[in-house]
Amino acid sequence: MPVYQAEELNGHKYKTHKFTKAMFNVGSLENHGDHLPFGTDCLVSYLLAKEVADHFDDMLLLPPLYYGMSEHYKDFPFTISLRYETMTELLRDILLSLHREGIYRVFIFNGHDGNSAPIEIATRSVKVAHPEMKIAVQDAWWITAGQLLPPGTFEVWNGLGHAGEGETSIALELFPHLVEMEYARGVVPQLPPHADLKWKFSELTNTGATGDPSKATKEKGAAMRKVLVNAVVEFIRYLDSIDWDYQQLRT
Ligand SMILES: [Zn+2]
Repeated sequence: MPVYQAEELNGHKYKTHKFTKAMFNVGSLENHGDHLPFGTDCLVSYLLAKEVADHFDDMLLLPPLYYGMSEHYKDFPFTISLRYETMTELLRDILLSLHREGIYRVFIFNGHDGNSAPIEIATRSVKVAHPEMKIAVQDAWWITAGQLLPPGTFEVWNGLGHAGEGETSIALELFPHLVEMEYARGVVPQLPPHADLKWKFSELTNTGATGDPSKATKEKGAAMRKVLVNAVVEFIRYLDSIDWDYQQLRT
């Protein structure tokens, strides 16, 4: 199935094709240790989103968002960050534009932890203002992958970490030519299990990476890619089957 990328469409194609839902990714442009590209969060989330969009004829894929909210990572060069407020407004404007176009079903594929709060504010506020909007979010693929894969898939910290075992593995699968494993060094911080510390990244690591990227393999990345794409495709198919009517979620 073709992937309908908004930046490639024209007025005629848009009018003659029925788009009922849209998908976009949210990335970042920030340091990912010495071994992964600055655009990692965008590349991963966009390539996965594109693969998902390939399964749906009525889905419009918006262009990749290479910028995110990275204030807590900026001690490591090179990092370009939008402010929390800018990020929230950017997302809100995209959602409101889709609403104006009559596209009420939206899936957001997030690639970066700093975007979670802006996504939460933007999506909730648009939903409250326009209850007909149906917005679903894959907020943290790096956690979901660990939940979906068999225990023991990852060797360290269940694959977690910024530029760690999981993220480096999926990079090796999706864009191996941009990964330089000889520079892969990470630190595994002992974070408390029942509270969320609001750290600056330089407090957790001196390498720009957490977790253990040296344990990354392309095979682990291929497994992550497969379970993540399948899970999102299945989830959207399920939403389609209930016509995105949340009342049908009541048991
Ligand atoms: Zn990342």
